[in-house]
Amino acid sequence: MEFYVNKHVNKLIKIKCKDGNRYSFLCTGCDCYHGVIISEKGWSFNEDMEKPTFKPSLLSITGEKRCHLYVEKGNLRFLNDCTHDLAGQVIEMENIDDI
Ligand SMILES: [Zn+2]
Repeated sequence: MEFYVNKHVNKLIKIKCKDGNRYSFLCTGCDCYHGVIISEKGWSFNEDMEKPTFKPSLLSITGEKRCHLYVEKGNLRFLNDCTHDLAGQVIEMENIDDI
């Protein structure tokens, strides 16, 4: 499998994988990275690395923790069913310095 990390972006990490392009971003609600795979049957991406929008919403469940959000124009819009402190809030995406 071929991996390619684009170091010129700061809101997203792009990795090529066999299913398409995978993007990771820093979730300030969970304090970890969430990944999105863009494909015809999956999520769509507006191709803007600075102000990304992914559709539809993203749901991450880890044990008892739940994180449900929209990524819209460079903002993370957390839905009320998140179990972390940022539930119901809109937070600007943070830059990713170095991986
Ligand atoms: Zn999260």
